[in-house]
Amino acid sequence: MIDINTIPIIRERRRTYGLKITDDGQVVIKAPLKIAERTLREFAAKHTDWIEKQLAARAKFVTDKFTAEEMENLFRLSATDIPPRVAMWAEKLAVTYSKVAIRNMVHNYGSCTAKGKLTFNCLLMLCPPEVVDCIVVHELCHRLQMNHSEKFYHEILRVMPNYYSRRDWLREHGDYYLHKLKASNLSQKQIVVWEK
Ligand SMILES: [Zn+2]
Repeated sequence: MIDINTIPIIRERRRTYGLKITDDGQVVIKAPLKIAERTLREFAAKHTDWIEKQLAARAKFVTDKFTAEEMENLFRLSATDIPPRVAMWAEKLAVTYSKVAIRNMVHNYGSCTAKGKLTFNCLLMLCPPEVVDCIVVHELCHRLQMNHSEKFYHEILRVMPNYYSRRDWLREHGDYYLHKLKASNLSQKQIVVWEK
């Protein structure tokens, strides 16, 4: 049983608080700068079931690994699946982009640079198509807002009203694949699948 009072609190410039399992398997509370510790401890105490479940799941999946062949297959699938989705949603959002790349990333499912280079994780091919679209829309909306402001989410919801339920799927299942990839110790790879 985890002792709630020993969970480290990481204070950041953020608006919400929540529990997180770090990459090395530690439970932490991420919290805004000004919020009473008692509130955070009470919150954690209400979620001990979740914590136990996450830790148990994590212990299970570190032994689970991808083979190099499986990884290759995910890259191949991504190369044909992702570019048309990006093109379709970019048109809907009326945004441009300069490059689409696929990588096997261990920390995130997508990213977007200021110059419009979009990178997607090949692990998306293990997620439902609605979730792939949700990441595509998220990254493309960074072409409108280079932040995670209310305005940014407003842009997302305009074209994808059920964005949050799709993202919840990833929040629930996404870490499993990231950890599995990390445990696989495969070399990092990037392929450019579309270029202006
Ligand atoms: Zn983002």
